[in-house]
Amino acid sequence: ERRKYFQQEKMAAIGSLAAGIVHEIGNPIAAISGLVQASLAEGERLPEAVRANLELILQQTERLSALARDVSDFSTPRAGERQVLDLNGLVRTTVRLMQHDRRFKAFGLRLELDPALPAVDGFPDQLTQVVMNLLINAADAVEEAGRETPEVCVRTRLAEAGVVLEVADNGVGMDAATVERAPEAFFTTKPPGRGTGLGLSLCYAIVRGHEGSLEIESEPGRGTTVRVVLPPFEAAPRQVGT
Ligand code: ADP
Ligand code: MG
Repeated sequence: ERRKYFQQEKMAAIGSLAAGIVHEIGNPIAAISGLVQASLAEGERLPEAVRANLELILQQTERLSALARDVSDFSTPRAGERQVLDLNGLVRTTVRLMQHDRRFKAFGLRLELDPALPAVDGFPDQLTQVVMNLLINAADAVEEAGRETPEVCVRTRLAEAGVVLEVADNGVGMDAATVERAPEAFFTTKPPGRGTGLGLSLCYAIVRGHEGSLEIESEPGRGTTVRVVLPPFEAAPRQVGT
């Protein structure tokens, strides 16, 4: 409980700082990476050592823009309008959006979506963010595990507790201590530049904002299932697509 309290304080502090800083940081980052890319375009005319340095600068600016993006997701948590939506459609759209990402070429992504799933009401942009973050974590986990048959599965179904959305992977998994700390803002076990530690805390904040719950089941060396449960939209006569 104490931890939860600090967590909330930390999130509030991030929110108020982030909006301003991120905005100011974005433009110079874009300028730097644009100039570096233009310089790299000189290609053969550049001494090898200079080109290597420019590549490193570019990598680091990518880190910065990833951080800026993750932080700005926190500072605009109420984007979009609350609406009655079909979670299956949202999952399909999100998967389509992400298929071009290098990380997603490496494994079979399975969808097991319950066609009779009731609608939920929520903020589509935020829920898309949740699915994206869970998929990125799953992709990282299966990559790190280096399995012969890496698998990530997105499932939906109706349970007693509500409308369930699961992202399951056969990646590296987490021990109990990591599961416990995973939702903390800035907690990451990934090497610098790979993780910001903001993904799951953003997911928690969003799911909480939807009066839902998020739980993590994981076994080191076996894989992880992250389960989001959302209240079904009560008097949903028909679903509105996303
Ligand atoms: P990040 O991905 O930037 O590290 P997250 O908040 O998304 O930050 O996740 C925090 C930590 O939780 C990760 O660094 C990792 O240790 C663990 N984690 C999250 N999702 C998974 C997963 N699907 N499999 C294994 N570990 C995970
Ligand atoms: Mg993450």
